[in-house]
Amino acid sequence: MKYAPRKVYVKESGGYAELKPKNCTVCGVEYVPGSAISKDCPVCAKKIQREKSNESKRRSREQKRMACIELSAKNDRLTCNSIGGIRF
Ligand SMILES: [Zn+2]
Repeated sequence: MKYAPRKVYVKESGGYAELKPKNCTVCGVEYVPGSAISKDCPVCAKKIQREKSNESKRRSREQKRMACIELSAKNDRLTCNSIGGIRF
């Protein structure tokens, strides 16, 4: 008896079973999504996530820098090192 092995994705929570393959919105590759809301293939999803975390890191660094500039404008005895060790 022949049968085509099919991958069935079952979440632990018992939500969806088999999801239809989609095309990644970024690179266009066909992939089977791990969840109904994923829009990108695992490779792109990882990349996007990494970029996002880099972006937020960059942003918080930028905010600290701004705070530092503000503080040192108010009080020139304050050094940047006192609020997180940012070097210019
Ligand atoms: Zn992709």
